[in-house]
Amino acid sequence: MTALNLHCYVHIPFCRTRCPYCDFFLVTRQDIQERFFRALHKETILRTAPFRGRKVKTLHFGGGTPSLVSSAYLEGWLETLGKQLSLEGTPEITLEANPEDLTPVTCREFVSLGINRLSLGVQSFSPEKLSVLGRKHTRDEAFGAVAVALEYFGNVSVDLICGVEGESLEVWEQDLQAVLATGVPHVSIYMLSVEKKTRLESLVRRGMVSLPDEQDQAAMYLKACELLEEKGFLHYEVSNFSKPGFFSLYNLGCWHRESYLGFGPSAHSFIVSSGKEIRSANVNSMLRYIASGGDAVVSSEIILEKERNDERIFLGLRLSSGLSLDELACYHRDSSFPDETLDRLREQGLVVLQDGVLALTRKGFLFADKVAEELMPS
Ligand code: SF4
Repeated sequence: MTALNLHCYVHIPFCRTRCPYCDFFLVTRQDIQERFFRALHKETILRTAPFRGRKVKTLHFGGGTPSLVSSAYLEGWLETLGKQLSLEGTPEITLEANPEDLTPVTCREFVSLGINRLSLGVQSFSPEKLSVLGRKHTRDEAFGAVAVALEYFGNVSVDLICGVEGESLEVWEQDLQAVLATGVPHVSIYMLSVEKKTRLESLVRRGMVSLPDEQDQAAMYLKACELLEEKGFLHYEVSNFSKPGFFSLYNLGCWHRESYLGFGPSAHSFIVSSGKEIRSANVNSMLRYIASGGDAVVSSEIILEKERNDERIFLGLRLSSGLSLDELACYHRDSSFPDETLDRLREQGLVVLQDGVLALTRKGFLFADKVAEELMPS
């Protein structure tokens, strides 16, 4: 396999408790952390062998809650990774953190490890919303964490969720005003979604919880776009807003379909090499991961041309930079170009065409998946 430069993702699958809406792979028992990190070291050595010495373009500690584990574990793993791949000059090393874990002490530890960007799982500044979401931090802790993160990192992103039970547009606007007041340069906005096998799904199914309807959700999304853009944020991806120069380089790499290696249970990898694209997935069981001896991949597939083209349309449209018409025409070379569909989407105000580039409008971002599907070759 031709070696290449890579983005890296590491899944740290520990949380104190599971939030009712969350379907990520994670465990809540902490006594297994040491065994997990031993397995992670083995996997890292095995998986990076074909790429030894290559540069890490960006590194992302995701989870779970990476800020929950001791920084000594993170340091040990970084040492292992650094012996295999080159972390020299990696411009972005992000760690996802929960507000209740952030103090000047933990921030200093993260800085000393080379972490230079924090992504904070704030979700809301409203005590009522935080309680409905089952979050462990308070409103004051959220503000305190953002302030300390900004002091030590500057490059800070805050995640916010909208569309929780009983949430009005006013409550959502207060959350947006609160995040703007903090001065963070990056904000990610998520609509609360009901995922299978979560406690939220069971509550919704039994009629014990009802979420705002589609119209209200759309109004919340549009309000976020309006307020954030008004304050100088660039809406560069469906859910992501950034001040110039603070884009998430790791996420941009994934959306541009650059190669990434994922470590840890449930992590995915995507490798482009010698004209082939291979996607693989790791086991999503902690015990099987620990027992895997480092060989945690349970499925692997070569991506065929049709799927690759569909994915390029899907991901290209999610970005404000859009998709060039030439590129779209190339994906449609074996089928007729969707002229009529494009005209209709423009009339509906979902897309705009400028200088040969097709991009979603603000309204179009609300229907990004549907628009992409309509433009995929049959
Ligand atoms: S803290 Fe994040 S990863 Fe952990 S359960 Fe809650 S939403 Fe999921």
